[in-house]
Amino acid sequence: MYLILLGPPGTGKGTQAKRIAERLGLLHIATGDMFREAVQQDSELGRLAKSYMDRGELVPDEVTIAMVEERIDQPDAREGAIFDGYPRTLEQARALDEALRRRDKAVDIALHVTASDDVIVRRLSGRWLCDGCGEIYHEQHRPPKQESKCDGCDGQLKQRADDKPAVVRERLRHQRPSVELLAHYRDRDDLVDIDGEGDIDAVTRDLLAAIEKIKATVR
Ligand code: AMP
Repeated sequence: MYLILLGPPGTGKGTQAKRIAERLGLLHIATGDMFREAVQQDSELGRLAKSYMDRGELVPDEVTIAMVEERIDQPDAREGAIFDGYPRTLEQARALDEALRRRDKAVDIALHVTASDDVIVRRLSGRWLCDGCGEIYHEQHRPPKQESKCDGCDGQLKQRADDKPAVVRERLRHQRPSVELLAHYRDRDDLVDIDGEGDIDAVTRDLLAAIEKIKATVR
């Protein structure tokens, strides 16, 4: 199965994608994580991506599309994947359709997680990430046992540079899924809206229920 998680930043897509990937045994492809890794490695891709990420803007399509195509060519992506943060533009959506079609595959479902701006700004400005294992914490909803330390690997918790309120507002301006992107999936009945304002477990339950429904029709 190839699943897509769509939605503005801060709707818990990353957390949900990890849970679903684990539950369904799917590969998790998160373009934001891939760019952050490239930035950490200080590769050519990382240096280019950073200049956009720091401003809360999207990395250009041709760069992002090439990176994802390379990733889905790896053997571990052959049976399916859950895409998190990709596609974010109509161009990327079309490229993904085409790349999967060449491999005799297709997107099975696009899950659109929704939330209001107020909820998003509150969530993102309280979010902390482990620099060791990538685990996500939140000041209110999921505080670590020990301040600034990861419960799992003892790594240091850091706030993402682009989770600062001014950048969050920019990200929201640039990164709400466009009407065209949503229509791309809605027009062919592949889009399911999921309310992302509930608690994490409720959202996971709704996402899994939507996926199960699709699985039944695919079989
Ligand atoms: P995320 O972790 O998904 O919020 O992504 C962090 C940043 O990486 C975004 O603000 C963009 O600058 C960049 N990025 C991630 N995914 C994409 C994408 N599909 N297209 C363009 N830029 C992206």
